[in-house]
Amino acid sequence: MNYGASELKYAKPVADELVVNPEFRRWVLSQTKFAARAVGARLLHEEMLRARSKTAKFWWRSHYSEKCTCPGCRGQEADLLAIFEDAAGERFALHVEVKHPGDSFKVDGHQAEAYPIRARCWAGDAPEKVLGHSDATTMLLCSASRLGDYEQHRGHFGSVLTFETVAGQFPGVYGHGEVAEIAERETIAGSLIEVFDTSQGLPPIPEWQVEFNKQMIAHHCTSEAQKAAAMKALDARDRSAFDAIVYTTI
Ligand SMILES: [Zn+2]
Repeated sequence: MNYGASELKYAKPVADELVVNPEFRRWVLSQTKFAARAVGARLLHEEMLRARSKTAKFWWRSHYSEKCTCPGCRGQEADLLAIFEDAAGERFALHVEVKHPGDSFKVDGHQAEAYPIRARCWAGDAPEKVLGHSDATTMLLCSASRLGDYEQHRGHFGSVLTFETVAGQFPGVYGHGEVAEIAERETIAGSLIEVFDTSQGLPPIPEWQVEFNKQMIAHHCTSEAQKAAAMKALDARDRSAFDAIVYTTI
C-alpha cells in the first residue's frame, strides 16, 4: 500500500520520538485510557518489525488485516500502530489515524468508525503479522485548524491529539524542517526500491505504481540532468545507478 508523503511527514516524527524519548511515550499514553499503565510501559517496536514481512521498512506504518472481513478491517488500515508492554507484562495497542492538514474524512466513508471496531477485533486475535495484545485504543492525530471539519468523525476515536499540541509540548518532534525533508526522501526512495525489487524476483508491482514513481521523480529532482538520469535508471531497472541518484540528489 502506498502512503502519501504528507502523511508520512506528520506520522514518522511521532513514531520515531516514541522510540527514542521515554517522556514523550508516557505523555502520549497519558492522553489515552492507558494513562495509568504508561509508567514503565515498553514500546515493542523491534518485535513489531520482526513480525512483519521482510520488505516492511517501518515498524509502525500501515498495518492491516489480510484475512478479516469485519467492518473494522475490510479495506481499512491503521496509519500508525504502536504496541506496548506494561510493567506487569500485559500488551496493549494504540491505533492512530494521522490526518495531515490537507486531508479529510470521506463524507459517507466509514474510516473513523472502523477504527474502534478494528482495535477490538485485533485485541486478543491479532492478524498474523501483528504482535498479539490483549487491549487497545484509538487516537486521531491531526491539525488543530481542521478539528471543526472532523467534528462528525472525531468522536469515534478514544482520544484526539493535534500536531500543534505535540509541537507545544515537545518542540523537537516537528521542529526540524529536515525531519520532514528526510521523511519525504525516504518515501520516494521506498517507492523506487519497490520497483527495483521487482527485478529481483519479488511479485511485480502494477504499472500505475511505476508511473507514480516517475511522477515523484519528476516532482523532486532539482535539475533536468538528474531527472533524465533517474528516468533512465528506472526504465533500465538499474538499481545501482538509481541508488546513487535517490540518496544523493533527490
Ligand atoms: Zn476484523
